[in-house]
Amino acid sequence: MTKTLLVLGSANADLVVEVGRRPAGGETVLGGDTVVLPGGKGANTAVAAARVGASVALVGAVGSDGYGSLLRESLESSGVDTSLVKTSARPTGIAYITVTPDGENSIVVSPGANADVSPSDVDAISFDGADVLTCSLEVPLETVIHAIDVASKAGVRPVLNLSPVADLPAATLKQLNVLIVNEHEAAQLVGSDWRDLLKLGPASAIVTLGSRGAAVVAQAGVVEVPSIEVDEVVDTTGAGDAFAGALAARLTEGDNIVKAARYAVKVAALSVTKAGAQPSYPTAAEVSSPAV
Ligand code: ATP
Repeated sequence: MTKTLLVLGSANADLVVEVGRRPAGGETVLGGDTVVLPGGKGANTAVAAARVGASVALVGAVGSDGYGSLLRESLESSGVDTSLVKTSARPTGIAYITVTPDGENSIVVSPGANADVSPSDVDAISFDGADVLTCSLEVPLETVIHAIDVASKAGVRPVLNLSPVADLPAATLKQLNVLIVNEHEAAQLVGSDWRDLLKLGPASAIVTLGSRGAAVVAQAGVVEVPSIEVDEVVDTTGAGDAFAGALAARLTEGDNIVKAARYAVKVAALSVTKAGAQPSYPTAAEVSSPAV
């Protein structure tokens, strides 16, 4: 049975090591113990949506290695359907992350299996019963463009988290129900007047604003959606994916975009109060707790 939310995107193992300082070319430095965490924009988004109760399947790929098993287990333990995650002949995608004492990250991503997610994988999916397709850009651009086209023609609302910014055909942008960008990506695309995002073609847009929450850009105007207060910011990794997953989850429940964004800023704000990406995502019960 098709899930109401389909997420197309990457699944990566995040290999994180703390180092005193970054090595220069040709130099070796010793770091701490390696921490392996489930990550990748697609997997994070799907987990965030499932945790708040969405019926969600990830469309993606992992390798037939231990990291692939780790990612499948993490997705399934959060309730994500992995039947559309194929096992590729290539290794699972890996993000090599070094963290220095100032909190700065340096990241090398090896896409591996993610580079194998193809338009023909999209053609093999039934969109019957699906309501929203959410995509991000760590899988091949041609696959994302094809998926948005197929979804839109099947009456499934396409949402795109345009991170990192890439050149998309005007026809694809016109098919989007929601375009999600952060402040820097919005500036790259249109400068300071966010209303111009709609001139690119989507029916609506959202600019995420970090600790300030988000702004919804619709034909009627721009609506600011402030963040809730959080006691302590521990780790903002994956906050954007938490936002995108929670937003899509609420859209499948019939919320309008502003109501869905109000919910998504709560989910994303709670996610920054805990370490990691997927492990930090709250459940629906945590979001609706009177303390929030
Ligand atoms: P990232 O790359 O860290 O995943 P991003 O750059 O795509 O994130 P941001 O705008 O930084 O996007 O954050 C996404 C959402 O997360 C924001 O709209 C907001 O709701 C929430 N958020 C991020 N940082 C904070 C913070 N310090 N306090 C509260 N909420 C936050």
